[in-house]
Amino acid sequence: MKLRFDASVEAFRAEFLEWLEQNRPSADELAAEPARSSAHLPSWARGWAQRLFDAGWLIPGWPPELGGRNAGAVETLVYLEELNRHNIPRTTNPQGVGIIAPSLIDYGTQEQIDRYAIPVLRGELSACLGMSEPDAGSDLASLKTRAVFDGDSIVLNGQKVWTSGAHDADFCFMFCRTDPDVPKHRGISIVLVPMDTPGLTVRPLKEIIHPHLPDLNEVFLDDVMVPAENLVGELNNGWRMANGALAHERNLVWLMAVLGNESAFANLLEMLPQLLQDCTLSEQTSAIDDLVGLHVDTVAARCLGYRGFARYTKGGTAPEQALMKVYTSEIRQRLALFAAELAGPASLKPSAKRHTDVGTLEDFYSTFASTISAGSSEIQRNIIAEKVLSLPRS
Ligand SMILES: Cc1cc2nc3c(=O)[nH]c(=O)nc-3n(C[C@H](O)[C@H](O)[C@H](O)COP(=O)(O)OP(=O)(O)OC[C@H]3O[C@@H](n4cnc5c(N)ncnc54)[C@H](O)[C@@H]3O)c2cc1C
Repeated sequence: MKLRFDASVEAFRAEFLEWLEQNRPSADELAAEPARSSAHLPSWARGWAQRLFDAGWLIPGWPPELGGRNAGAVETLVYLEELNRHNIPRTTNPQGVGIIAPSLIDYGTQEQIDRYAIPVLRGELSACLGMSEPDAGSDLASLKTRAVFDGDSIVLNGQKVWTSGAHDADFCFMFCRTDPDVPKHRGISIVLVPMDTPGLTVRPLKEIIHPHLPDLNEVFLDDVMVPAENLVGELNNGWRMANGALAHERNLVWLMAVLGNESAFANLLEMLPQLLQDCTLSEQTSAIDDLVGLHVDTVAARCLGYRGFARYTKGGTAPEQALMKVYTSEIRQRLALFAAELAGPASLKPSAKRHTDVGTLEDFYSTFASTISAGSSEIQRNIIAEKVLSLPRS
């Protein structure tokens, strides 16, 4: 069977490729000023976001006034594949563009949309996501950071952790406890907190890989005061909004993981002769066996993703989508471990840039970002057990 897109989808692809050719940031620009964190906007990224937004190529499925062109889901899939094929990031602030701006558009006031969401989409502001706390990660509803109304202001006290890009962001989409006396899911609200507000301290966390380029942070709030109009949506409705916020783009997040795995597999194949040169025949046989297994999984992930996506575009439920995060992130982790083990001592070489190379221990460590963030593999398995397999809760 040969999978093909309709002629109209191919025409959409051709239109995008023509535009991309004229407007893309050059490879030299990308290499000269790489993003140092997930909320850093290098100068090329600001111009790139504006060109994408103004031409309706930022989020093609949205209307033109929000940086789109009302494109369908299949067209959006093709668009993301082409961006990836050309090695061009859509944004250097993925949480801002993928979660925070869409949530503000869904739940915020017109003023919040104009002042925060549109500037994030146009690359004029960057945003970070303040959900996790020292005792509230998987169990997010246990968060304790307090937000108390005081006249026209909201006063915040508490601590966030693992806040990606907080040291480079302009504002935080912060989840806070506004009512401690109701069941924990019902007393949470979201507040917009500019990062330069007095009383807010950001402390970058030194990471095991590229310790000179931190992305994760602790954020401390000590009597931080913001205007009451910075409350997003209804008071105490943060839990429902959190579920809405994280659902944005869920229908296509799998694609980025699949594309990432495919390019990691292609890198691995390129390095294979070098990696196998000092192996005995039996080691080579066993390595090739593992390699074939990884290839089968990589292809199966794309097929599974397509199957779920096809059901989703026809308006059906797609249980495949619940499996994709754990499946793709664990394939990538196995691939990284396989390559690092074959590379042996050479895998210990540290990399100078944020991007890690397959065949290094750093690459293996970096894969834990995907098996932990946005719901760890264990939590994903719980969800699959309950929601897909309808198993009883233990
Ligand atoms: C790269 C990266 C970027 C991140 N960026 C952000 C960000 O920008 N903003 C933000 O708010 N947070 C961010 N996080 C935090 C992330 O959301 C949390 O790490 C995640 O939710 C897990 O929480 P935790 O680290 O507190 O671990 P815990 O919840 O303490 O879990 C510890 C271990 O116990 C397991 N576990 C927990 N509960 C269960 C259960 N019910 N059943 C089975 N096993 C369980 C977990 O799977 C894990 O193995 C980021 C994390 C990473 C790795």
